Amino acid sequence: MINIVIFGAPGAGKGTQANLLAERYDFLHISTGDLLRQEVRMQTTVGQRVKAIMDRGDLVGDDIVVSLLDRALRQRSTHPDPDSQEDPWDVERKGKPHRPEGCIIDGFPRTVQQAQTLEFIFNKLNRKINLIVAIDVPRDELVRRIHERATISGRSDDTEEVIRHRLDLYDEQTQPVLDYYRVSGRLTTIDGSGEISGTNGRICQVIDSLIVR
Ligand code: AMP
Repeated sequence: MINIVIFGAPGAGKGTQANLLAERYDFLHISTGDLLRQEVRMQTTVGQRVKAIMDRGDLVGDDIVVSLLDRALRQRSTHPDPDSQEDPWDVERKGKPHRPEGCIIDGFPRTVQQAQTLEFIFNKLNRKINLIVAIDVPRDELVRRIHERATISGRSDDTEEVIRHRLDLYDEQTQPVLDYYRVSGRLTTIDGSGEISGTNGRICQVIDSLIVR
């Protein structure tokens, strides 16, 4: 089982790559941005609390994000029998579709504090993060892509001012997380400036090398 964290500034394509990898390797894909957007869409109490924060492009409080992440990691929705007491991570694959082989986490951690929390959560689950993939894209290209995405996504946080704020926040708060992981030797940086398929191929090469090892 391989557990991966995927990093990238807004517009780097981490969501797209995480989806492709989840499909290819049968990973459970957890995107904290998607989990939060779902809360907003469903107008839950959490959704109502986080909407304005997300619209501004600010980071949502750790208490909320961590509890959504924790719940997603323990979820049984991928298990064929939702009432089963079996750990969904340990079930036999045979005849049981959608068994997560591992997970790919996208959007978390965004701060060093969250990185430490993630280690703690995984330790408790007796699992570990094997690989951290950072998708590297120059800032000009990021801005160009987000503008392009804004015309189709309808995301309320894809406006000019908010985009700049989110990119600044990424530089300030998330880059230190990469330094944190670099020290542990699990960080791989991938050039994400070109086509989706090229970036995907480079990431798959790294994952494949871990699988055969
Ligand atoms: P994303 O889809 O990853 O770009 O996230 C969209 C928005 O959700 C971010 O701009 C934050 O407001 C919020 N968000 C997602 N993940 C986190 C996180 N790990 N910590 C705090 N806020 C988050």
